[in-house]
Amino acid sequence: MLRLSGITRRYGDVCALERLSFEVPDNRYVALLGASGSGKTTLLRLIAGFEEPDAGQVWLEGKRLDGVPTHERDVGFVFQNFALFPHLNVFDNVAYGLRHRARNPLGSASEIRDRTMAILDLVGLKGFERRAVGAISGGQRQRVALARTLVTEPRVVLLDEPLGALDANLRARMCEELRAIRERQGVTFLHVTGSETEALVMGDEVAVLAEGRIVQAARPAELFALPGNAAAARHLNAWNILSGRVRDGALLTGTGSLALPRPLPEGKPAQMAVRFDQIDICAPGQVPPGRDHFSARYVAGEFNGATALAFFQTDDGQLIQVTDHLSAPRLPVMTEGTDYALHFAPGAALVFEGAGA
Ligand code: ADP
Ligand code: MG
Repeated sequence: MLRLSGITRRYGDVCALERLSFEVPDNRYVALLGASGSGKTTLLRLIAGFEEPDAGQVWLEGKRLDGVPTHERDVGFVFQNFALFPHLNVFDNVAYGLRHRARNPLGSASEIRDRTMAILDLVGLKGFERRAVGAISGGQRQRVALARTLVTEPRVVLLDEPLGALDANLRARMCEELRAIRERQGVTFLHVTGSETEALVMGDEVAVLAEGRIVQAARPAELFALPGNAAAARHLNAWNILSGRVRDGALLTGTGSLALPRPLPEGKPAQMAVRFDQIDICAPGQVPPGRDHFSARYVAGEFNGATALAFFQTDDGQLIQVTDHLSAPRLPVMTEGTDYALHFAPGAALVFEGAGA
């Protein structure tokens, strides 16, 4: 198990990570979801030993890693831009790690050849070993980078936005492959990404990094359906969040009062989250009984193939998103600039204490 305990890392006035604690179990695919600038790369660099925390500890299998040189950590790193050696071919890029690793470097040419070929086979690059790394596709370069890391048999592989440089089709295919390769090797992957869909597809577990710490870690389906706080909900790009204050047992927002699904402390700030696909629309005054609702102006629609998005704005300026699935359409024909009632089952709403970011 990889364990981070109370990690803080500052750059001048910027606090990139603040008392972050997190556990990554063995033999698992863990996706770390965070916005750009949230500290994802910093966290990976601290685990790999490219930099050290200002406070806190990194543990791997009960052994303290912080302070240990990078090459003695049993941690592999796949960089965002792959960082291959441009003057070496595919085989030599991968074999490099075996010849030069700190522990037990291999000197025997036949052993290096066997191990390198085995790993190239694993990542689907058999037959490409003599190619220059400039003469293969982006997806293949990605696999060379992965092979070069895996061949050194790390306990944990850190992947920094590994699919970011690939086009959409390739990205989908590499998702599958990364999962399959990891399973065959039985090694732990910690994959950081800014894409919620990528995190949810890839991770056996998804951790959300926000405000310098892990705000929630859970299995993807659980995280998506039940984010534990507003920060996690915001990162899933599927929840509308309405802020307000608890008044007379309801949430008083800039767009009216909403019933609370559970009691919260009177007078305190709170936030309500309602998923994009759980809001229905009707004309004002026609809200079906038993539904909670608020009013908002229809701003624009967006057709996305199988789903359509509708954007609304509340009186206090909050943007609200509603998604419609074309197989089961439930939105009426709407006119831009007109007010509608947005209604939902009270049980569909989640509430969180606090004012949020
Ligand atoms: P991410 O990878 O999630 O985009 P980073 O870990 O690169 O985020 O950066 C987190 C924060 O720390 C950002 O505000 C960034 O500007 C700052 N930061 C990262 N590295 C440095 C550095 N070497 N010097 C100064 N600030 C840095
Ligand atoms: Mg980064």
